[in-house]
Amino acid sequence: MALIVQKYGGTSVANPERIRNVARRVARFRALGHQVVVVVSAMSGETNKLIALAKEIMPDPDPRELDVLVSTGEQVTIALLSLALMDLGVKAKSYTGAQVRILTDGAHTKARILQIDEDNIRRDLNAGHVVVVAGFQGVDEAGDITTLGRGGSDTTGVALAAALKADECQIYTDVDGVYTTDPRIESRARRLEKVSYEEMLEMASLGAKVLQTRSVELAMAKQVPVRVLSSFIEPDENGVLPAKSGTLICDEEEIVEKRIVSGVTMSRDEARITLLGLSDRVEAPADVFTRLAEANVNVDMIVQSQARTEGAVNLTFTTGRRDAPRAAELMRAAQAEIGFEEIRVDEDVAKVSVVGVGMRSHAGVAQTMFRALADKGVKFQAISTSEIKISVLIDAAYAELAVRALHSAYGLEAV
Ligand code: ASP
Ligand code: MG
Repeated sequence: MALIVQKYGGTSVANPERIRNVARRVARFRALGHQVVVVVSAMSGETNKLIALAKEIMPDPDPRELDVLVSTGEQVTIALLSLALMDLGVKAKSYTGAQVRILTDGAHTKARILQIDEDNIRRDLNAGHVVVVAGFQGVDEAGDITTLGRGGSDTTGVALAAALKADECQIYTDVDGVYTTDPRIESRARRLEKVSYEEMLEMASLGAKVLQTRSVELAMAKQVPVRVLSSFIEPDENGVLPAKSGTLICDEEEIVEKRIVSGVTMSRDEARITLLGLSDRVEAPADVFTRLAEANVNVDMIVQSQARTEGAVNLTFTTGRRDAPRAAELMRAAQAEIGFEEIRVDEDVAKVSVVGVGMRSHAGVAQTMFRALADKGVKFQAISTSEIKISVLIDAAYAELAVRALHSAYGLEAV
């Protein structure tokens, strides 16, 4: 008998029929004697609808009230799923985040989980219930409802699995695992049987949309085995899922088959800002980045090059696309103090990255990347690297071409 946490996303609970499907699946695991905690998202589209509704009333909604509002989406699905389970004769009980007592900090709309009181859940599991918990939400010290950021149900699932020391956290979604790249861009993309926490963390933050980045961070810190699965794959009559289905996210040591590169990701979520003719005063870059930091603008890639004018440089950096207008505004407002001639903002860029723990111990990974891009005539505008990834910023028009070129340069179709 195992203790399993299963998380079902919005598409898996999009309507009553699908909710019944989830209930049937949970019932089969239960019938095998497993203890099951289910975490659900709101029905697909529901959270967006609620946010839009709030914005109709107040363009920039108060965060505390927004959390009270959007958390209702998950409150609907926990009750419906519990009813569907009862209808199948399975004992079930639903909990909101506050009822469990998923304690978070008070940062509304992006709260972090501090502690989970697992007593109620354990008691119900021991009494034979399936426990159904609302994802994406918690409660702060003051008793206010908080939410964990978009996609936050993944984090609820992992956090519960960690608190309960569950055998596995299964994330059911509309894809059947983690792929070497987006199959919509490269049809030869392959499902990875296993991927390490570190690689998954890079891939999630670099644009692979399967899991919320924070959930991977948490899984890595707490060593929770996470399996990404399709909620449309059917378990057999014993409730057992086909062997090797989905992707297991686990410790690097558990991966026998070593690869140098595991995946190629692409993100259109960046914008490039260039300050032309920036004074070559030694403090000038510090002046720029201090202003951005104080305004909470995250900077990713940075490049400095010689300007045509004597005594000046060009400074290029990237920010999230949503932050770019604000970043540009800050720079313009301080143009005289910082000292630059011109600012350019380009949103027609894409960041393409290759990720793999094998990079730590293999030479030639960068060479393969730049050779493959050069062969396709793709120029890069900025580069950033970590121990296990190399990212290049390129013209958005070449993004998909670059992804396919890199996927084949590293032989990923044959993983
Ligand atoms: N319902 C929330 C959202 O749409 C949380 C989640 O689905 O994970 O972001
Ligand atoms: Mg999601």
